[in-house]
Amino acid sequence: MTAPCHDQRMEKPWDCIVVGAGAAGLSAALVLGRARQRTLVVDAGGQSNLVAHGIGGLLGHDGRSPAKFYAAGRDELAAYPTVELRSGEVLGGERRDEGFVLELADGSREVARRVLLATGMDYRLPELPGVAERWGRSVFHCPFCHGWEVRDQALGVLDRGASGVRRALLVRAWSDDVTLLANGPAELDAEDVEQLRAAGVTVDERRVAELRGPNSTLTAVVFADGEERHCGGLLVPVTLHQRTTLAEQLGAAVADPNPLVVDALKVDSMFGTSVPGLFAAGDLSGQMQGVANAVAAGSSAAAMIVHDMMSEAHGLSPVG
Ligand SMILES: Cc1cc2nc3c(=O)[nH]c(=O)nc-3n(C[C@H](O)[C@H](O)[C@H](O)COP(=O)(O)OP(=O)(O)OC[C@H]3O[C@@H](n4cnc5c(N)ncnc54)[C@H](O)[C@@H]3O)c2cc1C
Repeated sequence: MTAPCHDQRMEKPWDCIVVGAGAAGLSAALVLGRARQRTLVVDAGGQSNLVAHGIGGLLGHDGRSPAKFYAAGRDELAAYPTVELRSGEVLGGERRDEGFVLELADGSREVARRVLLATGMDYRLPELPGVAERWGRSVFHCPFCHGWEVRDQALGVLDRGASGVRRALLVRAWSDDVTLLANGPAELDAEDVEQLRAAGVTVDERRVAELRGPNSTLTAVVFADGEERHCGGLLVPVTLHQRTTLAEQLGAAVADPNPLVVDALKVDSMFGTSVPGLFAAGDLSGQMQGVANAVAAGSSAAAMIVHDMMSEAHGLSPVG
């Protein structure tokens, strides 16, 4: 009797399984496939910027819809018989002598010599009515991604203290009309107040109750006292978290938290995690967020993986 296809695969491990097909994972799979490495890409289809109209600041694709960008990446991979792209979710896994065994949500198990985690991060938003429906449009966390689209409008920065000062001054690049919305005491010292005043940034300490405007457009911030302030774009603070426990299950160490990224994976300059054979690229490693950075990290990580495998197989001297 012929063994099912899945069992045949279990007998022959993939050279690499890439978990996640966002910018980092797709970019890595392209480099791995072109290096003739048998590569399985498993993706749950939840890239973090899908809600945005367009990708801001990506050379060659500036303003392109994220969905179209990822579809184009998948189309390019289809030309390479070395790469299989599968919709699904990796639920868990473990390191074994010969590499890794990953468990997929459909109940299948896949074995690989190397694993690249490119699972992105969960961007957690402030709990404020009106934020979620405008997220990635008129409400955003990164002015480099979305600032151009709201340039020269009245812009708000929801924050306080030192980070509020820093972010409000940064947003001045996109508008002369910037308000620091502290949503309570602004926690500024005399130097902060003077710096903001000199930059023409207004400080408003009233409690913010909700955002107003049709659909994903923002027209005003509404305060608890019922008054409104005209606002066409709002920068909000977010925190980034691992989406799943997969990296933890595989034993990857986490870096110290910072105010933005709570549990980034520790990676070395070769994109290796603390676990031999386990690599990571993209948002989950706490690198500066952005599609260009994720593409670059995925590409570099894939090259390091190929190098690592050729070191093991043929004694190629390690990089670095
Ligand atoms: C709202 C928003 C707008 C943005 N706009 C811009 C912009 O305009 N320009 C810009 O340069 N950057 C922008 N960014 C940042 C940019 O989107 C990210 O830096 C980039 O997408 C990170 O790529 P990644 O491949 O690391 O992760 P992601 O793009 O998040 O992709 C990770 C993929 O892995 C999948 N996955 C996760 N866990 C599993 C699992 N266990 N099994 C299988 N698959 C899994 C996810 O479903 C997802 O498809 C924006 C971010 C947000 C949140």
